Amino acid sequence: MKTDQASPNGFVDFKQVKASVTMLQILERYQLVETLRQNGDRLSGPCPIHKGKNPTAFRVSISKNCFNCFGSCARGGNVIDFVSLMEGVGFREAALLLQQWFLDPSSDGGPARSKKAVRKPNRAKKPEPSPSTAPTSVSEEPIAEAGPNPPLTFELKTLKTDHPYLFQRGLEPETIEHFGLGLCSRGMLRGYIAIPIHNREGELVAYAGRWPGDPPEGNARYKLPKGFRKSQEIFNLHRALEEEEDTPLVIVEGFFDCFTLWQAGITKCVALMGCTMSEDQLFLLTESLPVGSSIELLFDNDEAGIHGAEVIRAQLGEFAVRVVTLPEGIRQPDELSSDQIPDAFA
Ligand SMILES: [Zn+2]
Repeated sequence: MKTDQASPNGFVDFKQVKASVTMLQILERYQLVETLRQNGDRLSGPCPIHKGKNPTAFRVSISKNCFNCFGSCARGGNVIDFVSLMEGVGFREAALLLQQWFLDPSSDGGPARSKKAVRKPNRAKKPEPSPSTAPTSVSEEPIAEAGPNPPLTFELKTLKTDHPYLFQRGLEPETIEHFGLGLCSRGMLRGYIAIPIHNREGELVAYAGRWPGDPPEGNARYKLPKGFRKSQEIFNLHRALEEEEDTPLVIVEGFFDCFTLWQAGITKCVALMGCTMSEDQLFLLTESLPVGSSIELLFDNDEAGIHGAEVIRAQLGEFAVRVVTLPEGIRQPDELSSDQIPDAFA
């Protein structure tokens, strides 16, 4: 049996390594800090794992102490995962390396790549959810990207909450009220069911419109305000985050899937408003949920939904993700009856 030089007993405390070593220390050791740009809690740069060229494909959340690649390798995870991928070694070996590099005071720094890291073998602090933990060598210049969706300065107050379409879709008055739904009789959404969309902080940022039934020619089934970027929001996240931390977060595609599950008691549920997850949506989740949290994906039973769930499962590498499949004959979650829903998750 191979004996590890740095750790003769081969003992490694994964939990301690994860809690004590920061992504920043590791990036410094690999001399990658200079390749990254900082925007608040987020660092981004080209992916050092697959050595891609996209200047923002690789993202690090300082407070969550994790990384994700949005490029071709699509890897993600914690500090140990990162070293495992960089060194091409297993998880345990990677943890031993980290222990040796950062936590073992008798170590000479191991196979050092960065003089800096040897000079300061850093008795790592736990990362704080503050950009001030970032090293000064990281550029303060923000990544060029569109700003957040601004909160609306108005609220639609006269929505008709008893439109037959809502009942047709199986929604109960309590659900309609909880989500603030109703038929809009004026303005851009005239004739549409208005669906309020909030940001993570609970500020109203848009109303989506759903035509009640099949839309007449020239009318879209769904309408979103011009300039609104749905890729920056996760529908119902602000409410879901108020639920118990150890309850799994259920992610669905559409608004009505979310309404249906909520009504059946699956209240910690959010909708991506599509079957893909944008970088912003992924970061919303990584910044909002503890690493290792349980997530359940319940997507449509079609090609896009099945494929989408698999891609998202890979994107959510730092979480415990389960893909839940719909029973045969059911195309999307909002077709499930309240009785079928607990069975689907069993
Ligand atoms: Zn990559």
